[in-house]
Amino acid sequence: MKKNIKNLTLPELQEYLVSVGESKYRAKQIMLKIFVERIESFDEITNIPKTLRINLSENFDISSFANTKSQHSSDGTIKYLFELKDGSSIESVLIPCEYTEESKRNRKTLCVSSQAGCALDCTFCATGKLKFKRNLKASEIIDQVLTVEKLTKSKLTNIVFMGMGEPLLNYDNVKRAVELLTNPEFQLIKKRKITISTSGVIPKIIQLADDKLPVKLALSLHAPYQELRMKLMPSAEKWKFEKLIESVEYYYRQTKTPVTFEYILFEGLNDTISDIKLLSKLARRVPTKINLIPYHTIEFTNPTGFSAELKPASKGKIQWFRMELLKNGVQSFQRTSSGLDIDAACGQLALKSLNQSNKQ
Ligand code: SAH
Ligand code: SF4
Repeated sequence: MKKNIKNLTLPELQEYLVSVGESKYRAKQIMLKIFVERIESFDEITNIPKTLRINLSENFDISSFANTKSQHSSDGTIKYLFELKDGSSIESVLIPCEYTEESKRNRKTLCVSSQAGCALDCTFCATGKLKFKRNLKASEIIDQVLTVEKLTKSKLTNIVFMGMGEPLLNYDNVKRAVELLTNPEFQLIKKRKITISTSGVIPKIIQLADDKLPVKLALSLHAPYQELRMKLMPSAEKWKFEKLIESVEYYYRQTKTPVTFEYILFEGLNDTISDIKLLSKLARRVPTKINLIPYHTIEFTNPTGFSAELKPASKGKIQWFRMELLKNGVQSFQRTSSGLDIDAACGQLALKSLNQSNKQ
């Protein structure tokens, strides 16, 4: 299989061009054509010699996807299914208005996947039930963004790594994609408009802090103490609670960027006054925003055991939880349930049949 040209950084493309006897400065011309003009075939790069166009098409691919399907929800959310060239599939979700606050109405957020499947097997997650297939290449991450912009004929403003997979277990490719997407020359996504959500891969949270990638960090906390967290997320056995919070404190010290704690509310499990007290204590250790997430049941994956017992907290309970956090001096917000009718909630992606949808 040919290498996708979008996996190369500018210096890497320059190096390739020099190795085939071409001038270094052509690399920039090629990249601008691809990322700004969005050409889809090397033939369209008319400002380079024909011999180079032929060389590029013989050695590289431009597009990552063999096939794209989409499914529209009544609230404006669109779910995309991308078939990769090796036959695996991934999903992205376009959320035209992610949060309820007035000021954020103009956002166009794409929830992207970083892996096909996921190895971490969180009890509440549909992607986890698919098991791990493979890491996505940087080009496959970038192409989720470019393809959705092309299909919707509009610009995305925000990217969240909350689709399929654990982005920090595919660190190098995610970093490559983020660096390209935030490169001001290509005007794709503004710095800090990309959020990486992690289940808590401690060594990579530290690396992210040291690398100072221009992103925001969201931590899927879901439980305010180790024992419950371990029940919900088996990976917590390896990446323990106290060390995890310390890594987040380190991240804040290095980047001065507040971290979001994601917290799915499960009825009768993590929704008590004592959970609120513990959560408030954590929120005071490091500047955070808490994102209260309604649980989207995953009955369609036929869960068993503890997974099958999980119940969403009621709307009233979520409101109460939010008010109690506020009484403890902690701000929280609630993600809207966009796309629920097509199971398009971020983090709930499991390639449920898209047979009814249009081929594009
Ligand atoms: N692997 C990363 C990013 C993908 S999951 C992570 O775990 O953070 C993105 C978010 O969706 C996470 O906060 C995850 O906990 C949440 N999520 C997963 N399954 C969900 C479900 N069934 N209902 C609500 N949120 C879910
Ligand atoms: Fe993987 Fe995140 Fe799902 Fe857990 S919640 S299984 S880490 S995608």
